[in-house]
Amino acid sequence: SAIIRLESIYKIYGSGETEVRALNDVNLIVEQGEYCSIMGPSGSGKSTAMNIIGCLDRPTGGHYYLDNVDVAQMNDKELAHIRNKKLGFVFQQFHLLPQLTALENVMLPMVYADIDPSERRERAAEALQRVGLANRLNNKPTQLSGGQQQRVAIARAIVNRPVVLLADEPTGALDSRTTSEVLDIFSELNNSGITVVMVTHEPDVARQTKRIVWFRDGQVVHSDLTPADLNHL
Ligand code: ADP
Ligand code: ADP
Repeated sequence: SAIIRLESIYKIYGSGETEVRALNDVNLIVEQGEYCSIMGPSGSGKSTAMNIIGCLDRPTGGHYYLDNVDVAQMNDKELAHIRNKKLGFVFQQFHLLPQLTALENVMLPMVYADIDPSERRERAAEALQRVGLANRLNNKPTQLSGGQQQRVAIARAIVNRPVVLLADEPTGALDSRTTSEVLDIFSELNNSGITVVMVTHEPDVARQTKRIVWFRDGQVVHSDLTPADLNHL
């Protein structure tokens, strides 16, 4: 079933002469268990779409059904609640708190999600084990490589068991070896049932996903490309 359904989504910034139509009638369905990437030129609306999908921003018009609930017109507090319950985020910069250990960084989202304190440590350790960092629980970010830091960020993103994992240029700050480590983890998570949606401008990264959605001028111009299709673009 559809986990993400964008229906006639518009996003307009500014007004009058400075008006920008960042999204212009975007329609997109992502089914539960998919692994897709979002591509397209700079300024085509990818970040705006991700901000809406991630409940960080509201569309100007249209409907957004996340897990069958229309969240398009929810207020900030309701959106924050949905983000915490249903979504996990991974960014280009890892955004780990430097004074906390890997384990403590991963425990943090559970504080806001009402997870029983007695469970937090064990669940965080489990998430770090899933990303191959069982032996790094007590290291601080500066004691970890870039790839390892991104894996901590992935553990933090999945610890509340989100229905969708959203990643915005997650390999943008990594070299090719750690990029493939991180992509292997996304594949494993997807194989275990997590829906993954990622923005990337790197064709080699997009090729590791199963479906590519292509934006141009605020619209989805290809909604279902395969990795092989990228060779012909
Ligand atoms: P992409 O992520 O594909 O580079 P964006 O979603 O960032 O595209 O931008 C789409 C369009 O909306 C661009 O023309 C951009 O300049 C504009 N835009 C994005 N955010 C804002 C904003 N906060 N205020 C005004 N215009 C914006
Ligand atoms: P990205 O590197 O993901 O494309 P951008 O550089 O497009 O990011 O945007 C960075 C931030 O600036 C975002 O919060 C975006 O909403 C905002 N932004 C982008 N374009 C504009 C614009 N023309 N006017 C105001 N804010 C913008």
